[in-house]
Amino acid sequence: MLMLRAADLDAIFQQALQEYPGECCGILTTGAGGDLSAMHKCRNLQDELHAKDPEQYPRDARTAYFIDSGELFRIVNGAEKSGGGVSGFYHSHVDCDAYFSQEDKDRAMAWDEPAYPDAVYLVVSVYGDERRGYKAFSWDDGHADFIEVEIAVQP
Ligand SMILES: [Zn+2]
Repeated sequence: MLMLRAADLDAIFQQALQEYPGECCGILTTGAGGDLSAMHKCRNLQDELHAKDPEQYPRDARTAYFIDSGELFRIVNGAEKSGGGVSGFYHSHVDCDAYFSQEDKDRAMAWDEPAYPDAVYLVVSVYGDERRGYKAFSWDDGHADFIEVEIAVQP
């Protein structure tokens, strides 16, 4: 289950529309003792990686995202210092629906285990300048796969 403020969900959609036709991405963190996630925008490095090394990074930012490890470190560190931690990640899908793609699954795995077993992955969908749906996914031990989880949007 993902708990998110309506304002944060709105900010994620704003970012997705701004970065269209590229995917946007970011990190979700919780504070001390709270289950409410806050969003942190990240820059999508995928276009730069694709330009530098198209063989290793065949996708550009239209169908993939890559969070800068420095940004990840800074945000994780900040959350942990305030007694919280990373609760998940988000990215947008461009001109396609919100679902957890095979690419998304592959990227969320470290070898044969989930890289962040407790993380929730939020996917928001934008078609042109139009907001569409959003869904969240999380690793489930029983299914040994990512399954859809509930999103509770708070006022
Ligand atoms: Zn995706």
